[in-house]
Amino acid sequence: MKILVIGSGGREHALVWKLRQSPRVTDILCLPGNGGICQEAGCVAGDPRNLEGLLAAVHKIQPDITVVGPELPLSLGIVDEFARRGLRIFGPTQAAAQLESSKSFAKEFMQRHNIPTGHYTVCTSEEEIRKSLGLFSLPVVLKADGLAAGKGVVIAATKEEAAAVGAEMMSGKLLGTPVRRVVLEEFLHGDELSFHVLSDGERVAPLVASQDHKRIGEGDTGANTGGMGAYSIDSLADDAMVEWLLNHIARPVVQGMKSEGVEYRGILYCGLMLTTRGPMVLEFNCRFGDPETQAVLMRLDSDLLEAVEASIQGRVSEGLFKWSSDASCCVVVSSGGYPGSFVSGKEIRGLERAAHVENVKVFHAGTTSRDGGFYTSGGRVLGVTARAPRLQEAIEKAYQAVRCISFEEMYYRRDIGARALKRS
Ligand code: AMP
Repeated sequence: MKILVIGSGGREHALVWKLRQSPRVTDILCLPGNGGICQEAGCVAGDPRNLEGLLAAVHKIQPDITVVGPELPLSLGIVDEFARRGLRIFGPTQAAAQLESSKSFAKEFMQRHNIPTGHYTVCTSEEEIRKSLGLFSLPVVLKADGLAAGKGVVIAATKEEAAAVGAEMMSGKLLGTPVRRVVLEEFLHGDELSFHVLSDGERVAPLVASQDHKRIGEGDTGANTGGMGAYSIDSLADDAMVEWLLNHIARPVVQGMKSEGVEYRGILYCGLMLTTRGPMVLEFNCRFGDPETQAVLMRLDSDLLEAVEASIQGRVSEGLFKWSSDASCCVVVSSGGYPGSFVSGKEIRGLERAAHVENVKVFHAGTTSRDGGFYTSGGRVLGVTARAPRLQEAIEKAYQAVRCISFEEMYYRRDIGARALKRS
């Protein structure tokens, strides 16, 4: 079977790596891929944001199945376009992807279907934001409607700051483009949990739970990033918790969508806060998380292609995935300065030595390869991921491999998974 993966990050490298292990995959391509992916898949030039270009590439490549990594092509309707042409693709339609592409849609949908989430109001003007702020205690969360690559959420400490941020969201000063709606949301306290399920539009199968580290600095300080590391271990969500999350969140989403005439197929990512009032949804993503995917797929012992096909063909069952009881840990290595400005083009050394650390896989994100060498080409450069029977060993192995790697101004957090170790 010929598979095409769309995207260029660490998540896509993990997808390519896992899909390649399927005995039924004979050929795997990635558009556009990155330095590391191109060692394991045929890379095809192209822009995942350009649907016309993607369709032309697919016409040439003739894949049996296309797997979409990032949210943007999904929110632009790539699945709808493929379906219209009878092409097999893995992921939700544009209407279903609104759960990610519109924060206000997601909040209103959750309210309609009784899915636990924080209190909120949707504001359509600066004045409405200022007036509605009276309904919330501090800090308060502001969420810009629309895809914002992780930059659309601000936690404001004062009402003045919240009013100013809301105004900047609406004017376009904050994100480059104006937004018409801003969600004000109560600040929720607790530990965060990332919970993915696979859906075929009717039934869901859970993936193992994981935890991301969003902030740039150790001890969860500093600016928000795309994610600086993740780990996965069974104790993050026991069987009873998984059943609760399926019954109160994942199934109501898929059934709620269906009742509104929309089939939700593909991956549903639930970003949760474990509060004293129970788990609450912070956000939905309509695709695999990054870097959670790297940690989660490291624990998958069954065939990912089977799961992709089950979603497309409508035969997802709860026990579809076979998971290892091992723990996993992914440490993201980034360019110095990220998530602010950074310099690319630095030569990366020590990748081979890192790859030799037992049960470690180095996933590439922002890299290019030329003349046999690898160079940085993005903020998040690598996701060094390890698997071991105990979390502590997985963390140690990941850091052992990270220490083999070097490039100018390389940065990584040294405390990925540390809080989980302390808790246990
Ligand atoms: P989101 O894109 O909605 O997941 O928000 C990004 C990050 O902001 C989350 O991972 C949380 O760390 C934080 N966040 C979002 N909403 C809330 C909330 N209501 N209370 C506390 N933190 C939040």
